[in-house]
Amino acid sequence: MPTLQLQCHCGNVKGQVRDVNLRGRTRTICHCNDCQAYARHLPDTDSILDKFGGSDIVQLTPAQVTIDLGMDQLRCLRLTRKGLYRWYADCCKTPIANTVSPGFPFVGLMHTALKVNGPMDACLGPVDFYIQGKSAKAQRTDQKVHAGFPISWFLFSAPWMIWGKLRGKHKPSPFFDATRKPPVKPEILQS
Ligand SMILES: [Zn+2]
Ligand SMILES: [Zn+2]
Repeated sequence: MPTLQLQCHCGNVKGQVRDVNLRGRTRTICHCNDCQAYARHLPDTDSILDKFGGSDIVQLTPAQVTIDLGMDQLRCLRLTRKGLYRWYADCCKTPIANTVSPGFPFVGLMHTALKVNGPMDACLGPVDFYIQGKSAKAQRTDQKVHAGFPISWFLFSAPWMIWGKLRGKHKPSPFFDATRKPPVKPEILQS
């Protein structure tokens, strides 16, 4: 099964994403206010968001991801105290991934951190869901966009999330150590 290269724009942070296959991943374009706020907090917002305000995210399990170089550059942002852990590379402010919690078998890899040859669709497969369309910057007419977070996303993702939990795929993770601590203290934007 294919291995993808993970890399920040400047190349200081490098890693790998293993065993990527169509059945074990969900690709989602999220237009939510939080994803947009995160992108706006980083300098190169236009390379993170598409023209509709969408972020292209591939959801996998943390055990598939390693960061082999540049762990010291990893930074974490949380929009609120209970928000997602949003990871980026400090060297060039490339968004890397989002995680929910140490025990959750989920990592959302940002398209900005994946080094793909050619079109994203050819490498990652098609987008499964366009979600949170109610917050999009413009109406998308080329795709079916869900206004919020559709139940179909959970139904689609639940089998591999349950499989991931049962198989312990939330670890090892580059984002939380064995004591469930993040490698760097998250910066919280709003308390
Ligand atoms: Zn970098
Ligand atoms: Zn979002």
